[in-house]
Amino acid sequence: MLKIANHPSPLITDQQIDMSDANSNVHGTNNKNTNDAKPSRKDLARQTKPIVCYAVESLPPLKGGAALYRTLGTAVANNQATLTQRLSIPPRSALAWNVPAGHLWRIICTHGPQVADMNCWSASNPNEHFYSSKTRQIHATHLSTGDRLWSNMPYLRPLATITADTINYGFDEDGAGVHDVIGSRCDPYTHYLMTGTDYNYCCHSNLTRAALSYNKKNRDNDDTTDNTSSIELKECHIHDVLNVFMCTGFTRDTHQYFTKPSPVDVGDYIEFVAETDLVVSASTCPQGDVSLACGGGGEPIVYPLGVEIYKLEEGLLEGSGWSPSDVNGYSGNHGL
Ligand SMILES: [Zn+2]
Repeated sequence: MLKIANHPSPLITDQQIDMSDANSNVHGTNNKNTNDAKPSRKDLARQTKPIVCYAVESLPPLKGGAALYRTLGTAVANNQATLTQRLSIPPRSALAWNVPAGHLWRIICTHGPQVADMNCWSASNPNEHFYSSKTRQIHATHLSTGDRLWSNMPYLRPLATITADTINYGFDEDGAGVHDVIGSRCDPYTHYLMTGTDYNYCCHSNLTRAALSYNKKNRDNDDTTDNTSSIELKECHIHDVLNVFMCTGFTRDTHQYFTKPSPVDVGDYIEFVAETDLVVSASTCPQGDVSLACGGGGEPIVYPLGVEIYKLEEGLLEGSGWSPSDVNGYSGNHGL
């Protein structure tokens, strides 16, 4: 059962606030604190240091332990995994594919700097999908090795864990990072609102076309890999994405979402292990490396991206105590 830590109380005593004042650790205070004048709620907020809401270490640990996940991150290089499928996502397009539980998949920069918008679903239930906002709350605005991709409520469990990230960008002096869970995805509806015209190759539409062709492929039963899915995907199942390879942040002055040219180079990849049977989809964004502002003119160069799926050697996972993730243990009572 998922347990969230008891968080430190946000309530601050008058004495603590006095100490903050004494340390001159206050910005924008407009109400001097004295014994007979308590600070306003605004001053209280300004004077309180950030309180991290979710203690990651209080979440259920990685099954098999951190050492197993380090092993997974080098399994391909150490010949502990066998390539089962290789795909190429064409420019301004998307593909969807199966990843059985305990398999690895990579999204790879094969031709030039390019970002991808990624979705994933439980292979047995299209209503269980990657939950970008909760993942952002639990981990950070940008993900890297060791972070998990959580699913939506009422399932809320790890769908996948990042096992390798060759970019490993961290955060630069503008606060930008790579692989964000901030943005939703480019879509034709926003495009229409802003331009009054139709554009059919935004990531949302690419993912929608990929979902529909995935259904057809399943129905035709011509999938050459382990077919672990019987789900039928529709446009309404397309959800907020992991922005693979995308370099983004918020401006310090206006706090607006910004992008920078993706630092991804040919040969870079991000790698995941599936914590349950999944269907994964990714779109090659029409913004390319996102070095141009949306609607700002110019024609982005858009490259294909590679996908590789690997089966780990027999016993590697099970021998370490790994097993697929279980859906959340909450009773579902909601106080009723
Ligand atoms: Zn896009």
